[in-house]
Amino acid sequence: MEDIKKLVEKLNAYNDAYRRGKPLISDVEYDALVEQLREIAPQHPFLNAVEPETFENKIEIRHPAPMLSTEKAYTEEQLSRFVSRVMKAAGDIGVLDVRFRVTPKLDGLAGRDDGTIFASRGNGEVGYEISSAFQKGVIPVGGRGLGIGEIVIEMSYFEEHLAEEFEHPRNMVVGIVASDTLNEYARRAIEDGKVHFVPYSQLVSWEGSATALLENTEDIIQELTKQVDYPIDGVVAEVINEDVKTYMGATSHHYRWQIAIKSKGETAETTVRSVMWQVGRTGSITPVMEVEPVLLSGANIRRVTAHHAGLIRKEGIGEGARIEIIRSGEVIPKLEQILEKSRHIVIPGHCPSCSTPLLWQNDFLKCTNDNCPAQIEQRISHWFKTLGNADWFGIKTIRRLVESGIDTLEKVYAMKESDFSELGFGPVQSGNLYNALQTSRTKPVEDWRFLAAFGVSDLGKGDSRKLLARIPLENLPDSTPEQIEAIDGFGKITSRSITRGLNGIRRTFDNMMDLGFRIEKTPLLADVQSLDTPITGKSIVFTGKMTRGSREAMQAGARKLGAKVQSGVSGKTDFLVCGEKVGPSKIEKATRLGVTIMSEADYFEMISEPDG
Ligand SMILES: [Zn+2]
Repeated sequence: MEDIKKLVEKLNAYNDAYRRGKPLISDVEYDALVEQLREIAPQHPFLNAVEPETFENKIEIRHPAPMLSTEKAYTEEQLSRFVSRVMKAAGDIGVLDVRFRVTPKLDGLAGRDDGTIFASRGNGEVGYEISSAFQKGVIPVGGRGLGIGEIVIEMSYFEEHLAEEFEHPRNMVVGIVASDTLNEYARRAIEDGKVHFVPYSQLVSWEGSATALLENTEDIIQELTKQVDYPIDGVVAEVINEDVKTYMGATSHHYRWQIAIKSKGETAETTVRSVMWQVGRTGSITPVMEVEPVLLSGANIRRVTAHHAGLIRKEGIGEGARIEIIRSGEVIPKLEQILEKSRHIVIPGHCPSCSTPLLWQNDFLKCTNDNCPAQIEQRISHWFKTLGNADWFGIKTIRRLVESGIDTLEKVYAMKESDFSELGFGPVQSGNLYNALQTSRTKPVEDWRFLAAFGVSDLGKGDSRKLLARIPLENLPDSTPEQIEAIDGFGKITSRSITRGLNGIRRTFDNMMDLGFRIEKTPLLADVQSLDTPITGKSIVFTGKMTRGSREAMQAGARKLGAKVQSGVSGKTDFLVCGEKVGPSKIEKATRLGVTIMSEADYFEMISEPDG
């Protein structure tokens, strides 16, 4: 009995931390504890209560119908049992054509919007009035009054701008809803229009029979996941037929006609040998665990990133710690949970590269020295990686150059073959390095890559492309924050940060422009809008293997003709251009959405027609 009490206390504490946006353990770990409780005390009231959530100083709202949790399936077997239960229920009431719908499972903060009141889920029965989220600038996707959904932040934006500040996007969203004042990061994300309330009805979905669902589960999950730029943790499958839903009903915890499918990657256990500290381009010091080599999904894993220093401190990671690592899809292995803490936890006080005392910023340790050699190495490495048109400049080579005082792009590009030899590089490597520099200038490179390569903060590849569609590269250094702010997707703070960053690299920018890189221009929107081709202003998805050239080249060509190139089919897509080996689910979806489907040959014929 004592064990059960302790377990429930623990679960309540974890729950509370999760709701406050500061989770103490991973979701999988939490779910495992819940399963443990179900094992030893299947009737415990905790299992039948929806996890509570508390917002101080907010008005309580009773939901017209309870907002329940979702039952979870981790294995094929659990999913197939769910499908059998649905089929049996349908049989009981004589429904023959049973259809299922699958949607991505958003990992945000659940809420219900009736058009007037916007309430958080709370304990499922009673939530909190959180309409102030809309006043703060959270965008209701599809408009107000569309029912139940979740507040989420765009994932690509989070990864580009916030991943170094927050451990999970949800933590940031909870902060936006819970607090009266927004911190700078939240204000910027909202200003840039990246924080949304997404009603479930507005999500992409898959529909099909029980057999189709069970046979293609992995494909369906992958397809849906690809089409959503929000944090998600699996998908939700539910039966569509209303009669079946009514007949199946709900427990006090979840609806019986719905299940969450979580694809849990393969995991392995290993021991930490040591923790190394890597200095990033912007001065963040990232801990990397060297582990006893272990086989995971066919790869021999030796290193696992620990994301940030806060985790090392909190979880007790160091020599001898036992950890579980996970790898799902092609994702690099990451830490899943700590099985056994270490007694030797070492947090560096000084930068491993330049010995500057480190500062804590949230959970991150930072070196604030702009002249830190490791940061310079990373910035030069970022340049070559982002341009992506020349090899040979790996981090070890760059380190040797920086150690010899070749610590700016100008100095690197001034190097002759003999200069490399003098620094001790062999004759072949010296020739390769010199040639690579010439190649990087003479091989075509898109202007947005060139711009993003400078590593200005808030100016990654995506934002560079957007910016250059409005302002030509050569005019950019002279542009004002107001000019940038006038562009959709750039808020006030971001715009100021960009102009400040551009000012900082002004001299290098001019010097690099003078070297005569072969820069391919992004077509200006103003020019594109005066174009008149069959695809100007249309949204196109290219899929499958193309035969007449690479898919990237076709995408670039379409952009030049003023088309919007999308990565996945949505309700806004006009054309789906199919190369070889296109999966049936993509075609099925395009057909359902009324998208025009064409072959690669049809496409080229269409854009070659003189009068469209
Ligand atoms: Zn440093």
